[in-house]
Amino acid sequence: MKKSLLFLCLFSALCLCAQENINNNPFRQLNTDLPSPNSYRTASGAPGHEYWQQKADYKISVVLKDAERQLHGDETITYTNNSPDPLRYLWLQLDQNMRAKDSDTHKIRASSLGGRASGRQLQSLQPAFDGGFKIEHVKDADGKDLPHVINKTMMRVDPPQTLQPGQSFTFSIKWWYNINNTREIGGRSGYENFQPDDNNVYVIAQWFPRMCVYSDNEGWQNKQFLGRGEFALVFGDYEVDITVPSDHLVASTGLLQNPDNVLNKTQRNRLKEAAKEHIQPVTIATYDEAEARMEDRAEDTKTWTFHAKNVRDFAFASSRRFIWDAMGVPMANGETVMAQSMWVKEGDCLWKKYSTKAVAHTVKWYSHYTIDYPYPVAWSIDGSMGMEYPMICFNYGRCQEDSTYSERTKYGHIGVIIHEVGHNWFPMIINSDERQWTWMDEGLNTFVQYLTEQHWEHNYPSRRGPADKITSYMGGDKDRISPIMTNSESIHQFGPNAYAKPATALNILRETVMGRELFDMAFKEYSERWAFKHPTPADLFRTLEDASGVDLDWFWRGWFYTNDHVDLAMGEVQNLKLSTGNPDVEKDLMRRNQEDGPQDIGSIRNKNIETLADADPSILDFYSKHDPLTADAIDRQDYQNYMNSLSDKEKALLEDDNNYYQISFENRGGLVMPIVLEFEYTDGTKEVERIPAEIWRLHPDKITKVFVKEKEVKSITLDPFLEIADVDRSNNHYPPKPEVSRFDLFKQNARASENKMQRAKRAKRTGS
Ligand SMILES: [Zn+2]
Repeated sequence: MKKSLLFLCLFSALCLCAQENINNNPFRQLNTDLPSPNSYRTASGAPGHEYWQQKADYKISVVLKDAERQLHGDETITYTNNSPDPLRYLWLQLDQNMRAKDSDTHKIRASSLGGRASGRQLQSLQPAFDGGFKIEHVKDADGKDLPHVINKTMMRVDPPQTLQPGQSFTFSIKWWYNINNTREIGGRSGYENFQPDDNNVYVIAQWFPRMCVYSDNEGWQNKQFLGRGEFALVFGDYEVDITVPSDHLVASTGLLQNPDNVLNKTQRNRLKEAAKEHIQPVTIATYDEAEARMEDRAEDTKTWTFHAKNVRDFAFASSRRFIWDAMGVPMANGETVMAQSMWVKEGDCLWKKYSTKAVAHTVKWYSHYTIDYPYPVAWSIDGSMGMEYPMICFNYGRCQEDSTYSERTKYGHIGVIIHEVGHNWFPMIINSDERQWTWMDEGLNTFVQYLTEQHWEHNYPSRRGPADKITSYMGGDKDRISPIMTNSESIHQFGPNAYAKPATALNILRETVMGRELFDMAFKEYSERWAFKHPTPADLFRTLEDASGVDLDWFWRGWFYTNDHVDLAMGEVQNLKLSTGNPDVEKDLMRRNQEDGPQDIGSIRNKNIETLADADPSILDFYSKHDPLTADAIDRQDYQNYMNSLSDKEKALLEDDNNYYQISFENRGGLVMPIVLEFEYTDGTKEVERIPAEIWRLHPDKITKVFVKEKEVKSITLDPFLEIADVDRSNNHYPPKPEVSRFDLFKQNARASENKMQRAKRAKRTGS
């Protein structure tokens, strides 16, 4: 009994093991791991026939108190329940509470002290800034207090009656908070103080209690704001009154409703001119005008009114230090989008040259690759950071004191503007849940950013997108690499994981796996299907396959669900020729091979020694003189009989002079990828062969394939165009290629702080 039980166990363990291997096949169906399709989200990746989403409309009036650095607001929210579910309670996000002294953001920050600590590090151990919303009241439409519970960065509001499907509920909230200094304690919004004039630039976001998303796939969003995973927000219409010092200029989500009250006549006229300009921006408020405002410092206030339709959020910027320019971008539908920038004099050398042009360029190319920009304005604001909101974003780029800038600052400035304006599409319009999946907005956006950068100038130095730029990350320590499908808060190496890798993956799909035509159509289809809706990862995976007719289950699985890397290696290359069967040809070939081949050292050195046969030739006989490599009459007769037995087709095959190259390939990194090979022939010509990834479907680790070539091959390169992110290219050449690089004896004595513009000036002085 015992024995047979043991046998059974062993047997079933073996079976499980074999089962597991088969289940680990990289080509197994992905649908078993994705959520089941339903009437809200279809198996094709499109919104279903019963798709629904909630709506939240806001009327807000807000006062920016410059002296106190406080924001005081009063909002009325109308929340419409378009779901089929009755809602007993509503959840709001209080994202400012992440800055409260007792917030979990501080508590969950692991810390340790080494030999020394920076001031900022010490401050973060004992947060002193009194941030967070101070909620003054929550009332219903009749002014009666509403029951509400604050749970850290969220607030539950309980309407008096259950909110039935199709019903709306209107309520109001009054609050205020202390605005954070972004230079001292960081943040996606806040103020920056400038000395010696002691004026501030305010970039204001996450500034009002906002409705959480309630959706078919998540219910109420219930992940607290810890600081990294960004936002999940509901679409709606906004009417916002912003009261600021009267000499401030305000840029905002939405369209300005009262220009006559807040802009002077010159500014209004310049704006009209700017709408007609499509190449060079027009200055709306000049450098000198900003300097004058900085000196005068108004005491009274003005109220700017903005309306925005169908946006998921609302942000604004305000300062008396702003310089402002604008330019019209003509759209396919005949509308003009106003591309605009506001910046401070410290960034003037860069901003006046690039910002608004970069905004216009982004509006044009993102519209090309996704959907047309649907809003009337697109702002880029000098906020000394990179952060995005509908129609407005905060960017960086400052000049050095001599008004030069480094190459890195220049491309960082242009790149961040393209990126942050690009966020209008991902996630502001194609509205994924950032709190869950950073890659769905950052990765997709970084991909279109790369395409857009490449339309800016030839050889634009894009940091992320090209396959060979991801290899050092993907080939690194696996303990520090999360799969892309990881929640925003738990990701190791945030930038490479959520920005660069998904952007690279999409680029590889476009260039190598699907081709540009199929990819571009499918990516546009995804953008159109999910514009102004809430897509999930499965909706993207399914749509790209559905619209292109390409099975990408293996690709999503490998690139998005594992931390494997790509390392394809070319093993043995055998050059084979079909035997003619003709004894005269084949025996002669064998003789030449023997003669050309290497010889045993003993035979070489013994060539001239005296042997017995030299002294006594009588020991030689038939075998001593027989030459097996000379064809005789019988060989020829056999060959003739063989030829007579062949059909004409078979004879033709024998007569070709093709080269058969049998190549073995190994997948050492785990990620299966297409095999791209470049053959260089002895006559100097080249040919590229592309083998789809499915060649690995039965044997994901090792395969061999025979290539038939008329010409003789001189060399073969695997991945000749750096397109599959192969981390080890030393095994990609036949014959193997030694990699030569140089090393320096001494470190060059570069002037570390000097940028190239300054060096050019110095070189000019040196030369003269
Ligand atoms: Zn981003």
